[in-house]
Amino acid sequence: MQVTFLGTSSGVPTRARNVSAVALRLPQRSELWLFDCGEATQHQFLRSELRVSQLSRIFITHMHGDHVFGLPGLLASLGLAGNCSGVDLYGPDPLRDYLEGVLRTSSTRIGYPLRTHRVREAAQSGAVLLDDDDLCVRCTPLTHRVPAYAYRVDQKSRPGRFDVEKARALGIPPGPIYAELKAGRSIQLESGERIDGASLCGPERPGCSVVYCTDTVFSEAAVELARGADLLIHESTFSHGEADLAFARQHSTSTMAAQTALAAGVKRLALTHLSPRYMPGNPMTPDDLLAEARAIFPETVIARDFLTLDIAAPEPAADSNDQPLETGAAKQARTHKSSRSTAALQG
Ligand SMILES: [Zn+2]
Ligand SMILES: [Zn+2]
Repeated sequence: MQVTFLGTSSGVPTRARNVSAVALRLPQRSELWLFDCGEATQHQFLRSELRVSQLSRIFITHMHGDHVFGLPGLLASLGLAGNCSGVDLYGPDPLRDYLEGVLRTSSTRIGYPLRTHRVREAAQSGAVLLDDDDLCVRCTPLTHRVPAYAYRVDQKSRPGRFDVEKARALGIPPGPIYAELKAGRSIQLESGERIDGASLCGPERPGCSVVYCTDTVFSEAAVELARGADLLIHESTFSHGEADLAFARQHSTSTMAAQTALAAGVKRLALTHLSPRYMPGNPMTPDDLLAEARAIFPETVIARDFLTLDIAAPEPAADSNDQPLETGAAKQARTHKSSRSTAALQG
């Protein structure tokens, strides 16, 4: 899986940062999923390497404009391109009414199947939102001024690598039979001998996971959803010096994002949804937010538009080699103060 940030500013765009959108590339199935769709997200697609024709699912966290104003335009353009086979949309209850209103009053006809799915019930009950052969999606309610939901995508574990040499050495002729063995099933050779596919496969390869969590003030539900994830993308609207503002507007500080990552035991944290007040040239900059988070959770990066992170699943029984490509943030001295607890925040 590969994540590309298409918008990392909160509220309004700046020269360097558009409003919220995160693309998830799923190369193994030639699909692209999108999380949030702030205004001009389709322009950001055009400036990226991503192929919008692969877009198959869009997940919306909440109905604030900086997360949905790009949706009607993007959906309309997909229709005009003429090569869209259908889009599934997931989000809060008002999403369908919002889209129907805009599309009807602007006489926009969507010529491909567009299915909307409400996520409220799945979020409240903890039910799985989407489950197929290789991926599983869950969501949870966040704590914001309007209903907001965080999403988690888990790649299922895959069968271990098939040992072709070993199969050949056993005298098994190449052919469709290899696919059966590769899937771990047992087969019978013409000689009558039974071969167990599992004995020709290496250890199961675990999948990877990514969690997208915005907008919210510190949330225990987010900690639960993010438990053990390979990458947590968390909003970081304010510095902790502005914690009063964060609580008033139900947003997170960099400290809250880092405490969520620490409590959830994720491998890596990416901060996004930064307030324009931290634009370079101001007294505090994104580097200060990054330093604040790294003091609590060292494995933190700060997102910028078009930053791409590879989330490779760890190989079993090998050194973890899943360091995402980090092309942005400057490396800083890291101090790990794991003793700081989330309780300190609540007080
Ligand atoms: Zn927002
Ligand atoms: Zn919001």
